[in-house]
Amino acid sequence: MKPAADVRARRADLLAGVRNVVVKVGSGVLADAGGLDPSSVARIAGAIALLRAQGLRITLVSSGAIAAGRAVLGTSASSDIPERQATAAVGQIRLMAAWERAFAPHGITIAQVLLDSDDLASRARYLNAEHTLATLDRLGALAVVNENDTVAVDEIKFGDNDTLSALVANLVGADLLLILTDVDGLFERDPRLDPAARRVAVVERVDGRTLETAGDGAGALGTGGMRSKLLAARRAAAAGIATALVHGRHDGAIGRALDAAQDEGTFFLPRANRLARRKHWIAFGRSPRGDLHCDSGARNAVLTEGRSLLPSGVLRSEGRFGEGDCVRLLGPDGSEFGRGLVAYAAADLTRIAGRSSHEAHEILGYATMGGAVVHRDDLVLTDGDE
Ligand code: GLU
Repeated sequence: MKPAADVRARRADLLAGVRNVVVKVGSGVLADAGGLDPSSVARIAGAIALLRAQGLRITLVSSGAIAAGRAVLGTSASSDIPERQATAAVGQIRLMAAWERAFAPHGITIAQVLLDSDDLASRARYLNAEHTLATLDRLGALAVVNENDTVAVDEIKFGDNDTLSALVANLVGADLLLILTDVDGLFERDPRLDPAARRVAVVERVDGRTLETAGDGAGALGTGGMRSKLLAARRAAAAGIATALVHGRHDGAIGRALDAAQDEGTFFLPRANRLARRKHWIAFGRSPRGDLHCDSGARNAVLTEGRSLLPSGVLRSEGRFGEGDCVRLLGPDGSEFGRGLVAYAAADLTRIAGRSSHEAHEILGYATMGGAVVHRDDLVLTDGDE
């Protein structure tokens, strides 16, 4: 489907301004049933070396640890968590060895950065990770990021490297997230079911309908599938970052994806009103620990007047959150309208729900900034279907 001229122009503008790229490579691109495919690793390393030679900052997010480990251990796909973690422990060093070999001829030193979502949920660790990545770049080393699969338990898993790559893109202040996968892009309908389905060249906004076109299926080797790529593109878009989704096994695809004159894969436009990075971190960097059910007056004040959430607007809360944790704000119909950092622990909030800020102060013997439950500076409005 050919995009309209104004959309093409926006894409061209964005591509012309690209300086800082996160390249995410899926297991399906790097490996096959026999393990890592050195020719694929070498091809991508060559393309990345070219981009760096053009002066672009690159951060690589690489899957493939589990796929590589499986081939070494001779095991088959397993959903058993300890077995996956053990497999990742074996595979991660193979993966890094493969990247090191592939980048060496280009004179590029690589660095391994393993993250779990706890690392990005704490503001101090988030800033520290940002600092380390910036320092690696300053020293000329290429960061190769993966999820710390061997220690990540369910609650602290990103789930898939698509999600991780969107967070890393925000972390390093990228202007483009380039996702290399084993399909040609997003199609109007699932091309495996309908071979006549056409590729979508540019997506202006990932909404519920876009997500429906994706289906749920993950590839044979990775964990993501198209849906998680669309969610990653949406997260990136919210931070003002464009996403390009291209086939990582096609020769020259990376170069074409960055060339506005070419038509490769699917390009996702960023949102014009990007969330500040701290707000993006609030919305996407952390798992919510609870829900605040709000009345309609509070919902309107937050949504339309940019107000803080006060105790009087909270009907009740659910979950075991502490002060400073991320919570979801739900309207009277139960749908999410925002996320934020809550100023009270769950037990205290229960005591003051529905009370005025003044009463809340008296009941608890202390008050937060402006008496807010979630201060407007700590609050971000969300689409609600994360
Ligand atoms: N971190 C996993 C690995 O390296 C991949 C997760 C994913 O497929 O998204 O094997």
